[in-house]
Amino acid sequence: MNIQTNTPVIEAVGLHKSYGTHAVLKGLDLHLGRGEVVALIGPSGSGKSTFIRCLNMLEQPTGGTIRFRQKEVGTGFLDKGQKVGIGTLRRHVGMVFQHFNLFPHKTVLENVTEGPIVVCKTPKKEARDHAMDLLAQVGLAEKAAAYPNHLSGGQKQRVAIARALAMQPEALLLDEVTSALDPELVGEVLAVIRRLAQEGMTMAIVTHEMAFAADVASRVLFLDQGVIAEQGSADEVILNPQNPRLQGFVSRFRA
Ligand code: ADP
Ligand code: MG
Repeated sequence: MNIQTNTPVIEAVGLHKSYGTHAVLKGLDLHLGRGEVVALIGPSGSGKSTFIRCLNMLEQPTGGTIRFRQKEVGTGFLDKGQKVGIGTLRRHVGMVFQHFNLFPHKTVLENVTEGPIVVCKTPKKEARDHAMDLLAQVGLAEKAAAYPNHLSGGQKQRVAIARALAMQPEALLLDEVTSALDPELVGEVLAVIRRLAQEGMTMAIVTHEMAFAADVASRVLFLDQGVIAEQGSADEVILNPQNPRLQGFVSRFRA
């Protein structure tokens, strides 16, 4: 289903993150290849959000490295020498959060065009045309002039996905994007993500939707107590788990 190659878009090598004396990530490795969809599952507090935020340098790792386009990401905003700047990483790697984070005072269309116009200096008409295409793809063309507080949670999340796509990202990081939604709105958001996966978008997805993860992910990682305790195909990790903690975790999410 996914166009898989071995060329990594993002890698984490020996990633550590501590808050004071609290070690949250204890040496994680990830290779996110182009067109690959990796699902991150694990109990609450296991470090999933911290991990995915480190991949975009929203959190500064306390050890190890993040690599983007096979180059180490430095601590500065700009590219410097052999190192990629945080600005470049964020410009090309989109992130979608549980709580949408839309601009409330901007229309849906303005939310989607803001990044391209401000960050990429895309001409306004071109940005609007692209945004309208993306809104149509997520089924929200008719909401272009609406403000976020007039949308349902599922619609807001689809706008947030369109906004991330407007930057033409090389990869998307999604952190529990359906967790805040009423159950009847989850499906419409998962459908959009499923289509992105089919189109070959490179993604790391934190989710508790086990059936969805099993369906879209080329690889599933089980995070537990700050380490990757298990990883493999969805078949191995979700459908036939061997590790007892993973068995317990997965069985809680099975219908
Ligand atoms: P998950 O997303 O798997 O639920 P998180 O990455 O949010 O887990 O959190 C992992 C651990 O890190 C938790 O114990 C949490 O309290 C701690 N943590 C997360 N962010 C911070 C922070 N900014 N300061 C201190 N501790 C944090
Ligand atoms: Mg989290």
